[in-house]
Amino acid sequence: MVRVLVASRIHEKGIEILRSAGLEVITAEEPPEGELIKAIRGVHGLIVRSKPPVTRRVIEAADSLIVIGRAGVGVDNIDVEVAKARGIEVLTSPEASTQSVAELTIGLMLAVARKIAFCDRRIRSGEWPKKHAVGFELYGKTLGVIGAGRIGSTVARIARLGFNMTVLYYDVARNTRLEEEVGAKYTPLEELLRQADIVTIHVPLTEGTRHMINEEKLKLMKKTAILINTSRGAVVDTNALIKALREGWIAGAGLDVFEEEPLPLNHPLLGLENVVLTAHIGASTEEAQERAGIDIAKKIVEYFKLKGYLK
Ligand code: NAD
Repeated sequence: MVRVLVASRIHEKGIEILRSAGLEVITAEEPPEGELIKAIRGVHGLIVRSKPPVTRRVIEAADSLIVIGRAGVGVDNIDVEVAKARGIEVLTSPEASTQSVAELTIGLMLAVARKIAFCDRRIRSGEWPKKHAVGFELYGKTLGVIGAGRIGSTVARIARLGFNMTVLYYDVARNTRLEEEVGAKYTPLEELLRQADIVTIHVPLTEGTRHMINEEKLKLMKKTAILINTSRGAVVDTNALIKALREGWIAGAGLDVFEEEPLPLNHPLLGLENVVLTAHIGASTEEAQERAGIDIAKKIVEYFKLKGYLK
């Protein structure tokens, strides 16, 4: 029997696809490394989301594994190099969460610019914060997109069509389609940071992007600008961001991702009024979860067929 370990919750429809293809499905809820090491033995396929980490030790303990599926996008929790070196394929479902993450990104922009979460907190604590909640419109402002891939481009389109924003983007590669569609202008990173009213980050976490936004970069931003990060926490140097928010180098931030998740209860970000926090929920919609579960299950089944494990 060909076995798949689903080590993080995926949509039921994905599980059905695996079972009806004749696979034995074992489920686990993001087990810690030690448990995953035990569970991985005798398993041919592994499915994860952004957790649990699939470390070198996990991969080395796998005696039958031929494929790892990531339901979603971003493989920074998987040691892809070690997997590839052992001939284990790594598949993703990169399109599944694009719209959901883009919509959350726009939501964070509005929440920060219009002080939505701030008002909510104050009203619940018995205040009426009208005088302290003067915000600004997104309409006609300049958006700086760092990483104009699937999510960055979708954010850029919504910003352009919905709010008539001017779009600047920085990426390692030119995105001529986005340039044509929304008039996006390729702009070197430093220049983008100087010009944008809202900076939004959509690069993957790699050694090249770790702490890409540091003290020096934050100091280039307008004092009135806001920073949105729905990519990965470690793309931004958190200590530098806290300084920037405290000392007014920038006006605010909207963050879905953090260097440490869950965010510890005593974290300095929790004491700042000009930041809106969400709990890595970019892909947490019914639609994205369903798409990711179905897509990764189909890809795993196809891969087993290709390799002769299934008819
Ligand atoms: P994508 O691969 O389509 O786009 C990433 C873009 O970043 C590409 O255009 C790439 O060229 C660019 N890039 C890579 N390295 C760069 C560098 N050093 N400098 C500048 N640009 C660089 O990916 P996507 O689907 O748009 O997703 C982007 C990221 O969003 C994912 O890697 C993931 O970390 C994150 N994400 C977060 C959530 C969430 O729940 N918050 C959900 C899905 C994805």
